[in-house]
Amino acid sequence: MALLTFRVSEILTLTVPFFVHHDGRNFSWRWFRLENVDREILEEVVLPGNERVLAGKRYTATAAGAVSKEIRVPFCDWCGRRLGEKDRTIICCVCRRKLCESPSCAIALEGRNYCPEHAQQGLAISRLQWKIIHGLINVLSLDEIKDLTHTKRDDLVPALAQLKIIGYIEKKGISLFSHYEVLDRGVLAWRTYHKAFTDSDIAYFVSEVGSYLREVSGRGAKKCGGERR
Ligand SMILES: [Zn+2]
Ligand SMILES: [Zn+2]
Repeated sequence: MALLTFRVSEILTLTVPFFVHHDGRNFSWRWFRLENVDREILEEVVLPGNERVLAGKRYTATAAGAVSKEIRVPFCDWCGRRLGEKDRTIICCVCRRKLCESPSCAIALEGRNYCPEHAQQGLAISRLQWKIIHGLINVLSLDEIKDLTHTKRDDLVPALAQLKIIGYIEKKGISLFSHYEVLDRGVLAWRTYHKAFTDSDIAYFVSEVGSYLREVSGRGAKKCGGERR
């Protein structure tokens, strides 16, 4: 909070002479002492803006006759980053939160902007599920995904089942020849959250998958996706 105060205490505590007229003929000097006027005339306070309010100013008069000026500066309602005048402010189309341009705060989905909370409601996906889709798109087997995500099978199976229920992936083939394929809606979720998750462990996972694929390709041992599954 920044506080700025203006005072009028500079108006003397001096004793000053005044020329006084008595009866039309006689004049004399009288000495008067000015009262020291030491009071605030303007107080300026800068505070963080309220959620869902772009910016604001408020002026109030105090009982002592001073003016109090309150300036509200905007911050991103998700990450708390200060929004400068030159920054593009984005509003969640559901809750009206103001968001900065960071892809982890403002998530664009089918032409509209959402905060992470409401993007999740429209296209829910966990980090592990994103990794599974990323692995399948890169033609990895479930065992390879399990190893690269450092996940236990007990965690992988329900995440996979959920992706199937919400229509993001589909099981193709039967028995030993079965494999999973990512459906259009799964690709949409993967693309939407790619940027949103880049500041997390997702970035590390993506680079690990890249290194693994280069390594396999280099060995000449990488088989087509259908064979590995
Ligand atoms: Zn933000
Ligand atoms: Zn929202």
